Amino acid sequence: MIVVMRKGASKSEIDAVIERIHAIGYQPHHSPGEEKVVIGVVGTGNDRPADPETFRPMLGVESVVRIMAPYKLASRDFKPEDSVFTVGGDTPIGGPGIALMAGPCSVESREQTLEIAGELAQLGVTILRGGAFKPRTSPYSFQGLGEEALKIMAEARDMYSMSIITEVMGSDEVEMVSDYVDILQLGTRNMQNYRLLEAVGRQPKPVLLKRGMSATIEELLLAAEYILSQGNAQVLLCERGIRTYETATRSTFDVNAVPVLKALSHLPVIVDPSHATGRADLIAPISRAAIAAGADGLIIEVHNKPEDAVSDGAQSLRPGPFGELLDGVERIAQAVDRSLIRTPAITP
Ligand code: PEP
Ligand code: MN
Repeated sequence: MIVVMRKGASKSEIDAVIERIHAIGYQPHHSPGEEKVVIGVVGTGNDRPADPETFRPMLGVESVVRIMAPYKLASRDFKPEDSVFTVGGDTPIGGPGIALMAGPCSVESREQTLEIAGELAQLGVTILRGGAFKPRTSPYSFQGLGEEALKIMAEARDMYSMSIITEVMGSDEVEMVSDYVDILQLGTRNMQNYRLLEAVGRQPKPVLLKRGMSATIEELLLAAEYILSQGNAQVLLCERGIRTYETATRSTFDVNAVPVLKALSHLPVIVDPSHATGRADLIAPISRAAIAAGADGLIIEVHNKPEDAVSDGAQSLRPGPFGELLDGVERIAQAVDRSLIRTPAITP
């Protein structure tokens, strides 16, 4: 349920509503909109919906609306306007600009990461991706350099004034990873790791939440709700391909998910065409499709030597073809009245 306050409602009227929400055993979630304040009434440990009549007669209350979707804070009913988050101080995600995140699947060495970061900075990319803790299907595959990789990423950030994003795999590592990075990534295999979702919900950095490879759109939004309900409003939803009967590609890119998520939720939607296809030759066309469908950003694997990559080489683009991809994507972005967020080339 949401309580919509009248335009110009006073602080004491808003506080009285918040106090009553606590008094009936629910949590208030405050959304100061451009025009009106909206307060979410979100329950925990209690499946009985709150009674709208509790709030309707209160001073300053315009209306009380039940949210029918099982996810509340993630829904457009709770927040009709798009959410826009500023990452690393200068990249607004969710607005008219399209955010670019690129970099290697895994941070393999300082030399490799700084070289790729340098190439990406030349292309004006503002967010560097790189895995430090790798969720590998086999326990015998490369597991990531751990904290050493985070130090390398942080060095690249300082050198090229980029923001950095990396995956966090365990709730006990959230604090440490959050100290280094600008965006925390939650991987497809952890989309329903509820303790981890809560832990990233309790820290202040934005979270890129990848759709579970067998998760429905509703399950993705409920996973986002776990993060939002802990107080972190900065969740980016990521479509990264799902499992189907098709074997020609690693996953099947669910292009429907982009406009469906945009209609159901105010949260930004990011597409990962690398994991969605598993093939370097498909990344450019799928990136263009994602932007045409309304995505707010792309996260793409780029490697200086894909043939030597320790993980996901087959789906990694070299910097040159990645630059050509950006030119093609920019043309699509302009066709849908948007543009890529790119800075002038940065050299250290
Ligand atoms: C990754 O981004 O390298 C990754 C492991 O992604 P996903 O969780 O989508 O498989
Ligand atoms: Mn990968």
